[in-house]
Amino acid sequence: MDIFSHGLWGGIAFGRKNKKDFWTAFGIGMMPDLLSFGILTVATALGLSSRPDWGGHPLDSAIPSYVHSLYNITHSLVIFLVVFSIVYLIRKKPFWPLLAWGLHIMMDIPTHTTEFFATPFLWPISTVRVNGISWGHPIIMIPDIIFLLVLYIWFFGFKKGCKKNSR
Ligand SMILES: [Zn+2]
Repeated sequence: MDIFSHGLWGGIAFGRKNKKDFWTAFGIGMMPDLLSFGILTVATALGLSSRPDWGGHPLDSAIPSYVHSLYNITHSLVIFLVVFSIVYLIRKKPFWPLLAWGLHIMMDIPTHTTEFFATPFLWPISTVRVNGISWGHPIIMIPDIIFLLVLYIWFFGFKKGCKKNSR
């Protein structure tokens, strides 16, 4: 899924309690891509990494290996569960906005092809990956936008309704 959708899904799914939770879940929802491709974008802008050829069909091999390593860590359900459990143990209660990270991985699994950054969701235990449909395909992108629109209209309409009732 595109990074902006990830933020919006994370926010609506796990940040509905208040504004702070929303932006936390929004940020955590985008984090796996920010900490991999975001870093590559910054590195290329600074001239530290050569710019991959995004035109046409970029291949996995055109992306520097450190991005693959970061991608493995940020897109693994195993790593996510370990971090979620550690945070749970430290706080003695779950940190719900963190689930936006798990949701990001779950949504990436069917929306990437094995040609380009299929989700390494069981890394480092297994290299199994799903050959899905790219999130750039209209069959994914259009329903994604429609669902997000409906959910956000419902959410803001619902909140307004609550405020009215409490007056
Ligand atoms: Zn991702």
